[in-house]
Amino acid sequence: MRNPPPQAVRLADYRPPAFLIDAVDLDISLDRSKTRVAARLAIRRNPAGQAGAPLALDGDGLVLRRVALDGAPLAPEAYEATPDSFLLRAPPEGPFTLEIETDVDPSANTQLSGLYRSGSAYCTQCEAEGFRRITYFLDRPDVLSVYTTRIEADKSEAPVLLGNGNPVGAGDLDGGRHFAIWRDPFPKPCYLFALVGGDLGHISESYRTSSGRDVELAIYVERGKEPFASYAMDSLVRSMRWDEQAFGREYDLDVFNIVAVSDFNMGAMENKGLNIFNDKYVLASPETATDSDYAGIESVIAHEYFHNWTGNRITCRDWFQLCLKEGLTVYRDQEFSADQRSRAVKRISDVRGLRAQQFPEDAGPLAHPVRPSLYHEINNFYTATVYEKGAEIVRMLKTLIGEADFRRGMDLYFARFDGTAATVEDFLACFAEASGRDLAQFSLWYEQAGTPQISVQSDYDAAAKTFTLALEQSTPPTPGQSDKKPFVIPLALGLIGENGDELTLSAAPGETGASGEECARGVVELSTPKRKIVFENVPSRPVASLLRGFSAPVRLAPPQSAEDLERLLAHDSDSFNRWQAAQSLALRSVFARIEAARGGEGADDKAFFDALKRLVEAGEGDPSLVAQALSLPSEIDIAREMGKDVDPDVIYSARSGLRRDLGRFLAPALAEAHARFAPQEGFSPDAASAGRRAMRNVALDLLAAGDPASGGPLAERQFAEATNMTDRICALATLSHLPGAAREDAFAAFYERYRKDHLVVDKWFALQSTIPEVETTARVARLMAHEDFSLANPNRVRAVVGSFANGNPTRFHALDGSGYALLERVVLELDPKNPQLAARLLSALRSWRSLEERRRKIAETTLRRILATPDLSADVSDIATRALG
Ligand code: ZN
Repeated sequence: MRNPPPQAVRLADYRPPAFLIDAVDLDISLDRSKTRVAARLAIRRNPAGQAGAPLALDGDGLVLRRVALDGAPLAPEAYEATPDSFLLRAPPEGPFTLEIETDVDPSANTQLSGLYRSGSAYCTQCEAEGFRRITYFLDRPDVLSVYTTRIEADKSEAPVLLGNGNPVGAGDLDGGRHFAIWRDPFPKPCYLFALVGGDLGHISESYRTSSGRDVELAIYVERGKEPFASYAMDSLVRSMRWDEQAFGREYDLDVFNIVAVSDFNMGAMENKGLNIFNDKYVLASPETATDSDYAGIESVIAHEYFHNWTGNRITCRDWFQLCLKEGLTVYRDQEFSADQRSRAVKRISDVRGLRAQQFPEDAGPLAHPVRPSLYHEINNFYTATVYEKGAEIVRMLKTLIGEADFRRGMDLYFARFDGTAATVEDFLACFAEASGRDLAQFSLWYEQAGTPQISVQSDYDAAAKTFTLALEQSTPPTPGQSDKKPFVIPLALGLIGENGDELTLSAAPGETGASGEECARGVVELSTPKRKIVFENVPSRPVASLLRGFSAPVRLAPPQSAEDLERLLAHDSDSFNRWQAAQSLALRSVFARIEAARGGEGADDKAFFDALKRLVEAGEGDPSLVAQALSLPSEIDIAREMGKDVDPDVIYSARSGLRRDLGRFLAPALAEAHARFAPQEGFSPDAASAGRRAMRNVALDLLAAGDPASGGPLAERQFAEATNMTDRICALATLSHLPGAAREDAFAAFYERYRKDHLVVDKWFALQSTIPEVETTARVARLMAHEDFSLANPNRVRAVVGSFANGNPTRFHALDGSGYALLERVVLELDPKNPQLAARLLSALRSWRSLEERRRKIAETTLRRILATPDLSADVSDIATRALG
């Protein structure tokens, strides 16, 4: 039987709940296959809700055992219960207590939503709609309740019992069982509920808040893994301090617990006082974690901690407002990492991520506004658009109104909406008030999907010594939005003079001038479709450095000339734009190579290569910035720039050609850098050390691309002698592009060495899945038959199948359709077990329309066949439907 098509949910249909639930008392008796959940709900009518309505609670796969109203069992005709709903036909007018007992089977829960088992532990995941898989409830974020949770379990199986809030009681029971009681005084929506039970080890630390409150911090991990949690703890302490300093936000409970589990659909979850993490974002050691793993831990720990204020103390009125907590919290964690590390490098890597994930989403059939107005399956809206573009909007807001007004707006937001479920309008109103600025047009960033394109014409008048910029914005149509209004776009800019000096901006008087304030800040605003700006007293033809620091999530066109880009690469005072110039020059070279392959003129890379050589040789400054400049645009970056009729094979060969030529040209400088940045005594995960490693490994990879005969053995040696995971895995990555026995031996040795560490084994799987060779598709099929492979573990599935579909363009888009067939097979097999994960994997096909015709056809057929499969989940059918839409 075919499932009914999922119901559309519309923002415009929002109505306040008819009932409120002030207090929730839970008594949960953990059992592997039959956990008993007794809930006592203190309910009353919502004065702001629909009068006279019956009480309709959400459920999902529940077995009802017992129900009572104000202490008396309910007559069968008084209610109607199905696994997915509970209806109380004629609820009392005054406040009442509803007691409900349900059974759930955590062992059978393969969706990893609700109460499930990860390894030998019990854990929960309730965002977005998992609480209804535990008990019948008003499962919506605008119903805030105070929770008391009693958890009971076998003491030997689950000596550790954790809940939200503070511990208020514990004791032993007959039959080897015991219990713990947790009380969370802060009203919260049910998606923030959590519990954990298991035989876990932990590390702990005491923290004193700025006002002198003492908090006990603990991180729980699989027994024996305790030493691997210390970087996470360090990150947590730094996050707590930073939020006090940067936003004036203190922690509010007596304890803060983090639990790491191996089976988790996402990165981590901000449950009040009890964050639950994918262990990938907790566990690290120099021997097992790369620099990017360390950075990931630091940012996810911070992200979940920062949710305590932006998400928990102030939550979302409905799921359309998801960006209210996610975009804002990503912004906060990005700022934290920027302050902890190198701001410029952090910005570059965030923009790389935005362009790799969000831009394609915004340009394809799955495009949606940062605040969508309609969804069929909310799980499919935890997207790069909501998170990363949502963060860019907050950053633009700060750029537009300035730091002081931004901080005042945040303070106002915390003061005014603490303890409530808020909206994007509520948020913006605080900044409008703090800055005195009308933000109506700015709010279009939340409403309109699509990436705005800004075109620039510049003109230098040598006689008048004026420089004119003619700016124009336009935004392509996206699903359901054919005509776009102009956005307010903050454009940070500067002018670079002939000798590379930064010119003082001085605007011509009159309406074509920038305002004095714009000139002083170096940020002009584009809020109309077109704007012309004339700068005066410009002594010679300058080069405009536009969109400094990536001040808005837009595309700039047309690309600048090679000479202008070289001037920016050499002299721009804005590190981001120096990096951008290198990227743009590399893209020019790739496109020239593609033209040459079609019989056009070839690339002349001399000046570009010389500029990079000077960077490598200079030796001073930040090696991580040099490493970024040498990291060429990925195949996916190039495909995105191409926009249409994408042929991944053509891109691959052009890019490989550039890597080979650059590697040869720079060989002596690279060899010198590889030696100069050899590991120092002792390991530190800090930004400076990570930058040295980044430079060393970029050098190794380019050397091997230029000359495999010398680069291969160098990589083999580095692989064998590495003293940390970054150096080892980078050497293996370099080797993975060099077919032969050395490569296979290295993979075998790596597996032998790390086979007991599942997070490292994930790297082993992932790297093999991205080898750009014809044989890889068969290799991936073999990997899926490996004894360590399991569809039940999301990290493993992502390592093998996600890496293949998202990180191996030539094989995934193979002309014989074998890549798509592999994805189809996995999606359909996974769908009945874990639909959220299946849907996410399928979104690898989101850019199918931009492919050249032959591949486009196979992709479309694949999507249609998936959609025609009986019993598809709402998650997968939603993605397939919209992708085809
Ligand atoms: Zn979040």
